[in-house]
Order: sequence, then C-alpha cells, then structure tokens
Amino acid sequence: MFSPVVAKFGGTSLAKGSQFQKVQSIVSLKKSRSCIVVSAPGKRFEGDKKVTDLLGEIHRLKQSGEVHEGLLSEIQNRFEEIHCHLNLSGDFILSRGEYLNALIMSKSLGYTLVDAKDVIFFNDDGSLDEKKTHEAIGKHILKEKKVIVPGFYGSDPRGSIKTFARGGSDITGALIAKCVGAALYENWTDVSGVMTADPRIEKSARTIPRLTYKELLRVTRQGAQVYHPDAIPPVESCNISIHIKNTNSPEEPGTIIKGDE
Ligand code: ASP
Repeated sequence: MFSPVVAKFGGTSLAKGSQFQKVQSIVSLKKSRSCIVVSAPGKRFEGDKKVTDLLGEIHRLKQSGEVHEGLLSEIQNRFEEIHCHLNLSGDFILSRGEYLNALIMSKSLGYTLVDAKDVIFFNDDGSLDEKKTHEAIGKHILKEKKVIVPGFYGSDPRGSIKTFARGGSDITGALIAKCVGAALYENWTDVSGVMTADPRIEKSARTIPRLTYKELLRVTRQGAQVYHPDAIPPVESCNISIHIKNTNSPEEPGTIIKGDE
C-alpha cells in the first residue's frame, strides 16, 4: 500500500507570502508529500506578533467590552457579534489562523482542504477521542490523494472547536501521520533541526543529525521549542521517523528522529 509523507509547516514557515512560495516549492519537489498540515502565520521578524496571539487579544478585548476602531475592526465586529451571539468558544477564534492558512494553501497548491473539526475529536475531559479520530482520518483523509489540514484544533463532543496547547499543530501532524500509516513525518520549521544550543544566541550552535524519540523528549522538556513533546508518542507508537527540516534552507539535512537501533 502507498504510504504518504505527512509534512507539517510551522508558523514562521507560513508567516508571509514569500514563505508560502517556499512551502509550495518544497511540497512540489516530492510527490509523496501528499498530506500537509499547517500552522497559523507566525512571527515575520524578531519582536513581531503571531497571528494566534493577535486573535487571542481580539477575543479578550471583545469580552471586556472594549471598542475597536477602523474599518477592519468594523468587519471584525460584525463577525464577532455573530460568533458571540451563537455562544461559540474562544477556541474558535484562536483556531482561525490555521483555518485561513489551510484555505489559502489549498487554493494555491490545488490540494483538498479537510477541516480539522471533521477529523480530530476530543472527549469532554479534553483528552483525545482516539477511536473517533482514527476512524475520521481514515474516512476523510485516506480517500483523498492530496490534502491540506489545519493544525492545532479539532471538535469537542458537542461539535464546538477545541484547541490543543499552544504549538499544537505538531500534534495534529503526528496524529495524522499515525492514522494514515505515514512513511515519514516531516516537520518544517525555521531552524535546521534540533541544535546543540539556541542558534539565535549561540552562533557556533550545530545541528544534531540523529536522535532517538527519548532523546527528543528530553530536549523538548528542557525547553527546546523546535517540536511539541506531546507530538512524540503518536509517531513513536508506530515507529514513524520524524524529520525536522528548515523551510528557509531545505537543502540542509536537518535532524532525523527514530527509535533505538
Ligand atoms: N498557531 C498556534 C500557536 O501559535 C499553534 C501552532 O503554531 O502550532 O501556538
């Protein structure tokens, strides 16, 4: 059976139009990259704001009754009124960065958009409904040749949007990789893999070429932001390798993560 490559692109990889073009050329280079998971637009430069943080701010301001100025705010207020009236959760707003990025990417790549609300399911206690998720991914994703799925969110038992923890698009990608029996889980970011130190601070930092799942868990728990620790178990349980790669330097080898030899 054909095993797809699941490729997840993080926020900095999709922070602006020119980054989208880099992602498009990466995706088109390998035919097997048939399942793409995207984050919301992240920081374009040091000190910039992530779209998810802006959406969180809008929701907080709206709840505290503060008025927005300007035309953009007016449009936003219209949607906010509808959203509040329907009593939808703040998670709905928070998740729209991923949704819109996936919508744009699906149009520009010609891939089918599969909304995460239809394939990722949570229980009432916030844990993942594994059975329902597995079945839905089989039903909606496996039958498509090329799909885009927004990361970071899914549905609760009443059908309302619920998000993972921040940085949770990695988890979406890992769950999809597991459920489709991926050949590989690629995780595209803005550094060339797991580094020996923070490359923004330590100029001599170098890429670690190989790690085990356990070693990756240790470095992410120690604060390395490159990959979400909760995104390790789904792929580890099926022995799917993770390949951490740099969208801005796709020729660099990155870091491969697999089990003990
Ligand atoms: N956009 C979300 C965040 O900023 C999720 C993600 O990027 O994985 O946390």
